[in-house]
Amino acid sequence: QKTEWAKLINEQTVTKDGEHVELAANIGKPEDLNGVLENGGEGVGLYRTEFLYMGRTQLPTEEEQFAAFKTVLEDMEGKPVVIRTLDIGGDKELPYLELPKEMNPFLGFRAIRLCLEMQDMFRTQLRALLRASVYGNLKIMFPMIATLDEFWSAKALLEEEKQKLLSEGKQVAEKIELGIMVEIPSTAILADQFAKEVDFFSIGTNDLIQYTMAADRMNQRVSYLYQPYSPSILRLVKMVIDAAHAEGKWAGMCGEMAGDETAIPLLLGLGLDEFSMSATSILKARSQILRLSKKEMKNLAEEALQMKTTNEVIEAVKEIMK
Ligand code: PEP
Ligand code: MG
Repeated sequence: QKTEWAKLINEQTVTKDGEHVELAANIGKPEDLNGVLENGGEGVGLYRTEFLYMGRTQLPTEEEQFAAFKTVLEDMEGKPVVIRTLDIGGDKELPYLELPKEMNPFLGFRAIRLCLEMQDMFRTQLRALLRASVYGNLKIMFPMIATLDEFWSAKALLEEEKQKLLSEGKQVAEKIELGIMVEIPSTAILADQFAKEVDFFSIGTNDLIQYTMAADRMNQRVSYLYQPYSPSILRLVKMVIDAAHAEGKWAGMCGEMAGDETAIPLLLGLGLDEFSMSATSILKARSQILRLSKKEMKNLAEEALQMKTTNEVIEAVKEIMK
């Protein structure tokens, strides 16, 4: 199987009925790019920048971040690279920020919430991103967006830093796509409004599932509720994809679900444009998608959306994959 997959490294990801989707990779640091290229990644769908901030005793400087972003953009040679701004808090702590302990870190002061308050830290990252933008095909993504006001505030800071850089004579790419993670149910529900404001969505199912089911993604006791194939999750995913398409925008997914063998037929049928996963899953996913018809998967997804339980959905996928 490995040798069969290896032949697909330079192939396009096209369904049996001729529809192209993009298979991108999730990375945590520039060194992960070797794996992305070796596995035929068509882009980076999620660069988790928090690793630049972790395992050290102080914040990374603008130069350090700029160097990392520039390397990733250059190594991807013009292929799309979605860099997510700092997503700290929840399961990822930064001891040197000395934030007070919270009762519910996953529902607390994290990601964009923290960045909008700790503006100096956020602005430093935005400057590094803007300066790196001229070295490749950069798309910037904000994590944990719950309201349009958060998006507008973050966008305004980005715009301010861009104007500052330009007035300092620094170069910034003319057009940088600006998107959000859809990982909070409020944002999925209001996706039609968000779609008018953003350039793209990336659905973060790792968090979207935990917030929809009210089941901590790290808690074994309630892991039976962590159900990616639940019709409730599929309906949310559909809302997000349809909302994006209605405004001519694209929708991707960068949660674990995007690389999952059972989920892929459903996501293809729901019209997902970009699947971002760990690099080692890409060739397997490509080999699977080459054998699927998007039209048939659309029928499968439509049936799944009307089902009552996760088990019914799993059985339906099994049946069609036979
Ligand atoms: C997600 O929530 O699905 C996601 C991709 O982000 P993270 O796993 O970093 O929270
Ligand atoms: Mg998340």
